[in-house]
Parts: sequence; C-alpha cells; structure tokens
Amino acid sequence: MSYGVVWFKRDLRLHDHAALYAASAQGPLLCLYIIEPQLWQQPDLSSQHYHFLLECLHDLRQSLQQRGMTLLVKVGEACAVLQQLYQASPFRVLYAHEETGNHFTYQRDLAVASWCRAHGLSWQEFRQSGVIRRLAVRDGWAARWEQFVSAPCLPVPPMQAWPAPLASDTTPSPEHLGIYPFDPPQRQRGGRRRAIAVLQDFLATRSAYYRGGISSPLSAPSACSRLSPYLAMGCLSLREIVQSTRRRLTQLPADNTRQHKGLQAFISRLHWHCHFMQKLESEPAIEWRNLHPGYDGLREEEVDAARLQALMDGRTGWPLVDACVAMLRHTGWLNFRMRAMLVSVAAYPLWLHWRPVGLWLARCFLDYEPGIHWSQLQMQAGTTGINTTRVYNPVKQAMDHDPQGRFVRQWLPAMRRVPDSWLFQPWKMPDDLCRQHGLEGEYALVQPLVELESATRLARQRLHARRNEQAVRAGKQAILHKHGSRKQLPRAGGSAKPAATVQLALPLEAQPAPD
Ligand SMILES: Cc1cc2nc3c(=O)[nH]c(=O)nc-3n(C[C@H](O)[C@H](O)[C@H](O)COP(=O)(O)OP(=O)(O)OC[C@H]3O[C@@H](n4cnc5c(N)ncnc54)[C@H](O)[C@@H]3O)c2cc1C
Repeated sequence: MSYGVVWFKRDLRLHDHAALYAASAQGPLLCLYIIEPQLWQQPDLSSQHYHFLLECLHDLRQSLQQRGMTLLVKVGEACAVLQQLYQASPFRVLYAHEETGNHFTYQRDLAVASWCRAHGLSWQEFRQSGVIRRLAVRDGWAARWEQFVSAPCLPVPPMQAWPAPLASDTTPSPEHLGIYPFDPPQRQRGGRRRAIAVLQDFLATRSAYYRGGISSPLSAPSACSRLSPYLAMGCLSLREIVQSTRRRLTQLPADNTRQHKGLQAFISRLHWHCHFMQKLESEPAIEWRNLHPGYDGLREEEVDAARLQALMDGRTGWPLVDACVAMLRHTGWLNFRMRAMLVSVAAYPLWLHWRPVGLWLARCFLDYEPGIHWSQLQMQAGTTGINTTRVYNPVKQAMDHDPQGRFVRQWLPAMRRVPDSWLFQPWKMPDDLCRQHGLEGEYALVQPLVELESATRLARQRLHARRNEQAVRAGKQAILHKHGSRKQLPRAGGSAKPAATVQLALPLEAQPAPD
C-alpha cells in the first residue's frame, strides 16, 4: 500500500482542484505545502505576499480538517523536502497544478521533474487556467480557453488520508526568511472564505458600476472585482469565477443592461488574464529580456537611480502619479489605468528600463502574477514590438479621472492646500502664492523630475526610431505568430466587434482597449 502526494502551490483551495481530484481517485493521499526560503528571497516578492499566503493556508488547513485531512507544511528547498518525505515513507505519484511563475519557480519545477525521474516517480501536472503548456503557436487558443472554462467545475472529492510520516515545521517569520519588508496596512486579506465573499458581493451589486467605474482611481476600488489576489493564490479557480459570472448573467433581469455589460466586460478580462500569462508561459525570458530583441540597449544603459528612487518614493512632482504611489503603499492595489500610467511615466518621460520598475511594482502589487505583470510591463513600455505605443499623460489623466482633485487630496496632504485653479500643475504656482497657502516645509510642493512634454516627445522619438529600423520591423512577424492574439479581444466598453480572424500579416497585435 502506498499513497500520492498533492503538492499545493498557488492553488490554495479544495474546489475545482484537478490535482486533488485525480489523487483522491487513486487511493490515500497526503496534502503538502512547501515554504521555500529561496523563493521568498527573490526580488519580486515582499512580506505582504507571505502574510497573504499564510492567511490562505490557514483557510485551507481548516477546510481539510473538516474533512478529516491534515496539511503538512514543510520549510526547505522543494527537492530536499520531497526527498525527506520519500525517505520517511515512499510515495507513488506527485500531483500538482502547472504553474506559470517566476524564474525561480520555473527552475525549481525543472529540478523537481528531474528528481521525480531519478526516483522512478510519476509527476502528474494539471492545468488550472486557460494557459497551455508547450504551445507552439496561438492558433485556436481562444477556442481552447472557452473549452477549458466551460468544462464542469470539479467538486471536492472524498479523500482518504495517509498519515503524515513527518511533523509540520514551525512557520518562519518573514524576517527570518529575509523577505523584503512591505506589508501595506490596508491590503486585502487572504483565504477562500474571503474570496467567496468578494466574488458574491461583486456579482450581486458592485458589478453594476464596473463599466464606467473602473478607470478613475476614485471609483475603481469598489467598481473593480478585487478578485486579483485570490486568483493569484488560487483561492478560487478561474473556471469557478467565469461560471459563477455566467450564472449571474442568466439571473439578471433583461432590462438591467448596465450590470449585463459590466459582467460581460469582466469576463473579457478573465480571458485577458490567461492571454497575458500565456506569453510568459511560452517565453519565460520576458521576465528580464525584451520580448522584441530589437529594443535591446535602448534604456538599459541609462537607468537613472535617482529618478527611480523618486518614483518609488512618490516624489515625481506629478500629483496623480505621487498619489497613486501613496495609495499603493497603503493598500497594495491600483486599478489598471493607474498601473499603466505609472509604467508609462517611468518608461517615457523618466526613460527608465521596465525591469527595475517592474520589480518594485511586483513587490507592491498584492496580486503579483508574473505572467500578467511582465507582459503588461513590456506592453506599456513599448518593447513587445507588436502593440501600439500607449503614452499616458499624468496631467491629462488627472483632468479626466480626478477633475475635482479628490483623489490627489486624499493621498497627498500638500495638495489639500493647493487652490483649485492650480490643481493640475501646482508646480507652476508662484513662490509668494505657495507661501500664502502654507506650501512650505513638509508641505512644500515637489518640482517635476523632468519637463513632461519635451521629455515625452524625446522618448517617443527614440522608441519610434528603433521601431522603424528594417530589422526591428522584420522581427515582428515571428512575435505575432507566437504571442499575438488571433481574435479581436472584446472592448472594455462592451462594444465588442464580432470575433474576426487576424491575418498574421497584420502589423500589430489585436489588443485590449485601455480601461
Ligand atoms: C503594469 C501592469 C502590471 C499589472 N500586473 C498585474 C499583476 O501582477 N497581477 C494581476 O492580476 N494583474 C495585473 N495587471 C492587470 C490589472 O491591472 C489587474 O488585474 C487589476 O487591476 C486587478 O484588479 P481586479 O481584480 O479588481 O480587476 P478586474 O478589472 O475586476 O479584472 C478581473 C480579473 O481579470 C484579470 N485582468 C484584468 N485586467 C487585466 C489586464 N489588463 N490584463 C490581464 N488580466 C487582467 C485579472 O485577473 C483580474 O483579477 C497589471 C496591469 C499593468 C498595467
């Protein structure tokens, strides 16, 4: 008699868990989570991710206990832990979900695969999203996504426990693990129970404000679903969310067009979730290398540490940018448009390479999902070669999405003293007026790091000069072939054009409209 090991990673749930389901059908099993110190020392993770993880593990452990099961939590390098377990009580099969993670988890999975081979063990891996492993080209991807999300959700299976041959380790503190210390006071809390509550609340009421509400940083915190950290840790499966949303759509009165459209726009983003992750799955190096090598050398040599630091400190001088950084430090979350604006400001007027900016943001975003994150970073920085250049002007964004200055005044105390007439360009206020309004000392205004218009113009010119080089133009086709979406993705506004097959000769990827 032997047993199977279910290795939980970023899939911290029992429902719709393909690995658990398959293992339970084969006999007794042991549920394992490995806290890997080396993973937690990576520069893209911070203590908020660790605390969130512990909250999720707490929920998972309780759900298992209710079913007479335990969760074995070990601390160590994955192969070493598996070896220890195997020596204590040999197992037959290792079950897990496929993970599209960072460079560390990719290398670790290769090592685990080779450890399994060396021990004559089978490692069975299962998909948990629309991401497809070993995909050569994107043809037919959208249809396979649909097939995956519409297959029935798996119930929690009856489980037979294999007694753990080892005791769980004490959970180390983030300080002990050497994790980058960053845990915003108002971040979301982890666990499946909270995830379900957030989903239900969104489907029942908040989704009515999705369309029209997700762009402004004022309305976005409640209009957006706020499901991203739960998706990143797998507290809910993507399929569960898609199917619950579709069920909700059938229940809504036909005349509730506002909520109908909101939920449809939300489903289109769940599609993008996998679309972007697929890029990293198919090309893991985009975590640190330009998707299009034609853009190599463009920003690398000039990383200006002082500018980067000013951005990270929220002292760029552009109020909306600095207010977003303040909110991020307080909550660990920003809406899509404000994330895109931060990267755009970093990549264009500040001319910073996306990699250090991306590492900083990865640590700040509680929902850090490497596949979405690095693909978006490169798209916003203009290094994919297949997307149009999108430059977000922080002054225009403020006029459009925070016209009364409520957001900037919420997050930047100095802005509360700035009269309305100077709201969008406070740095232009004359000195005597600043003194009159008490804009001195700790309330002193920050001068913008660069002159916005000219710095942005220069950045565009430099990028476009590269884009127009013959070799760079020629390199596009192969990238489109491998990574480009084959259909017109639904627009955020719900005015989806019918899906049309894109000819590979098209110069740009069919891409989501900006929120
Ligand atoms: C530079 C940059 C970095 C980003 N990094 C991440 C990240 O690390 N993790 C992450 O989950 N999202 C990331 N996003 C995408 C998006 O901003 C977040 O998914 C969204 O703000 C999360 O809030 P929500 O769950 O309320 O979103 P909702 O609008 O309610 O969307 C629901 C879900 O759809 C997916 N989604 C939404 N927008 C996008 C998008 N543009 N691309 C891909 N998937 C999307 C997410 O899984 C999200 O949880 C990034 C965007 C940018 C511009």
